[in-house]
Amino acid sequence: MTGFAERLKTIRTRICRAAKNCGRDPNSISLLAVSKFHPVELLQEAMECGVTHFAENYVQEAIVKSEALPGATFALSGPLQRNKAKPALQHFTELMTVDRPELASRLLRIAEELDICRDIWIQVDLWEQASKVGGCSSKGIQPILDVFENSPRLPLKGFMAIPPFGLTMAFGDLAVFRNEWQQRIGQRILLSMGMSDDLEVAIRAGTDQVRVGTGLFGER
Ligand SMILES: *Cc1c(COP(=O)(O)O)cnc(C)c1O
Repeated sequence: MTGFAERLKTIRTRICRAAKNCGRDPNSISLLAVSKFHPVELLQEAMECGVTHFAENYVQEAIVKSEALPGATFALSGPLQRNKAKPALQHFTELMTVDRPELASRLLRIAEELDICRDIWIQVDLWEQASKVGGCSSKGIQPILDVFENSPRLPLKGFMAIPPFGLTMAFGDLAVFRNEWQQRIGQRILLSMGMSDDLEVAIRAGTDQVRVGTGLFGER
């Protein structure tokens, strides 16, 4: 087995075990491969193992990789500047870091111009660390939803979060928060949280997706 295949197997085993330990179906948890800073050759290796969707944090880096790998698709998992809205919509199939209404309205206008549809995740920050990693507060959700108004162009797929390091409680808080919003708007909202070091805690708390970089690709 190649390095990637080996690591993929290890991560899948961890997901499976964590799910079973809390009575969840392992197949209900998706694995997003975060490939930022890793070379095209490593993504190629991942594709040979059947992984074809990758998360990248920088628009330019993803453009270079998508040109080299026509069979791959990308999710944007890093902060998005308003002036990158257009290339982001063109090169990513889902945007995971929407966190303010101004950005949302620009995305919606450009998606209409380009005549395209993209999945949207709202990045949530319940701990006021916004200056560091981005994300909107609990009060920030409604203004963003008001912009999208259930537009079929940019449907809401879920909430994405990067909880403060070591704050185990945060995963449970996020799950409750997601459940409340799901009730409020009467629509399924997926939750993306948990990375290489804490995916077990996130699964126990009820995440639908874990985002793994180091555990799959090695150190950056
Ligand atoms: C880098 C990154 C990850 C992956 O982190 P690892 O600890 O390497 O697994 C997940 N989500 C986001 C938003 C990231 O920037």
